[in-house]
Amino acid sequence: MPTTVRNPDIPELPLAKAVPKGNNGHRYRNGYGRVTVAAAPGEDALAAMTEPVHDSYGRRVRYLRISLTDACNLRCVYCMPEDMQFRPRQDLMSDEEVLFLVKVGASLGVDKIRLTGGEPTIRPGVVDLVRQMAVIPGIRDMAMTTNALLLDEMAQPLADAGLNRVNISIDTIDAERFRRITRWGDIDDVWRGIAAAERAGLRPVKLNCVVTRGFNEEDVIDLARLTLENDWEVRFIELMPFGEVSDFQLSHVVSFREMRERVESVFGELEEASYDFVDPSRPFRIPGAAGTLGFISSVTEPFCQGCGRVRLTADGKLRLCLLRDDEVDLLSPLRGGASFDEIRALMEEGAYHKPWGHGLASGDFAENRAMNQIGG
Ligand code: SAM
Ligand code: SF4
Repeated sequence: MPTTVRNPDIPELPLAKAVPKGNNGHRYRNGYGRVTVAAAPGEDALAAMTEPVHDSYGRRVRYLRISLTDACNLRCVYCMPEDMQFRPRQDLMSDEEVLFLVKVGASLGVDKIRLTGGEPTIRPGVVDLVRQMAVIPGIRDMAMTTNALLLDEMAQPLADAGLNRVNISIDTIDAERFRRITRWGDIDDVWRGIAAAERAGLRPVKLNCVVTRGFNEEDVIDLARLTLENDWEVRFIELMPFGEVSDFQLSHVVSFREMRERVESVFGELEEASYDFVDPSRPFRIPGAAGTLGFISSVTEPFCQGCGRVRLTADGKLRLCLLRDDEVDLLSPLRGGASFDEIRALMEEGAYHKPWGHGLASGDFAENRAMNQIGG
């Protein structure tokens, strides 16, 4: 079984020619460009320096979501345009840079990582990257959000490398509608991916369903029904506006209330399951069901008060709120020769300035990126 899967759609790009001056760190070369990183502290030193970081509202920032690539093997209508242009590889973080920044995060108390994208499984060498990330002191939980197309082959190697869980995106169980939403996806690949994830022990399996008006609002019933027999968490996500496709997204939002009413009109009143006020998904259960339902109501009923998440975009910016454009560039200083402590100070300062919440209600939209570049 292969440990890496290459996407033939992503061309091999030439390596960056110049290595920035003034860097005494370690030089290396890989498919994401020839760059240098400063030396990071060893395991013991890293563990000793770890100190939890809080934002200015007192929220502990402990969850880092990393977009491993902006590229994808699908083009979901709500995520990106069909002719989406992806960034050249040398603009994206190399493995060493990702690992360096995770170590910086760990030294600030980050203990939870989610790998996302774009589609994280198409990143060359992702299994090795997971293996190296899993042993970074302080990282206790590592999950991935994936469209599952490649999980049939990759679930076991990823689990063996140290991945704990997966969230799998599936917005309908109807093969034709799935193709329409993803523009060319085959739903059977997703079912195979879900089965492989379960076999590999990547549990509990969570299914992400973005509900888009005119595409799949009726599918919430069939998707909710999956929880009757399976101990999965099916999460219904409100469509969020980003970048170029924000007009489309705003006019196609289905609210949490409407989704819930639809589900309750068939299965009766939902029971509330226990909620930690940290997870963006509010959990419910159809009475007697094996699994749970979750609703992520970022647009109509935001949950910013419990948010301890920051994101690393594929091109190495620390993004402080999914739905705001505030970012701190970490990759340029890193490539320019900044030390571990200097990058740490930048990350700490950025986390401190994490905005309280998004500004959708006042017409303040994130415009500089599409979802695939941020990592949802
Ligand atoms: N390719 C992977 C996948 O689809 O699971 C990971 C990246 S994708 C950007 C992460 C999650 O964001 C997916 O569950 C996807 O459905 C969701 N998503 C994408 N665009 C969205 C949008 N405009 N609003 C809400 N969720 C969105
Ligand atoms: Fe790709 Fe995921 Fe975006 Fe769909 S939602 S286009 S699978 S990155």
